Amino acid sequence: MNQSDLGRYQKKLEELISDIENYLKKSEESAAVVEPDKGLGRLSRMEAMQDQQMVLELRRRKKRQLLDVRNALKRIEQKSYGTCLFCTKTISSDRLDAFPEVQTCVNCA
Ligand SMILES: [Zn+2]
Repeated sequence: MNQSDLGRYQKKLEELISDIENYLKKSEESAAVVEPDKGLGRLSRMEAMQDQQMVLELRRRKKRQLLDVRNALKRIEQKSYGTCLFCTKTISSDRLDAFPEVQTCVNCA
């Protein structure tokens, strides 16, 4: 992979990190335990708990993605970015454009 492509992916990955960190910060409150006496407005407690579950699940996924993104940045430094972790083939640029943090090719995913 050439330098300008690497730079482009690096920028994307850094943007992803700040997006994810923003989300994690913003969603902290909605992920907090639903207090039984919390004033919930028009939301019932049941709905509030379902919302909370969704937020928690999304936060779990985002945290995992954050690790992958940081890993991918490390792989750029180590010049191994863009090659599949398992078969060492080059990962297609279509795939990297859609998911810049992936570490495996389509066949090994
Ligand atoms: Zn592979």
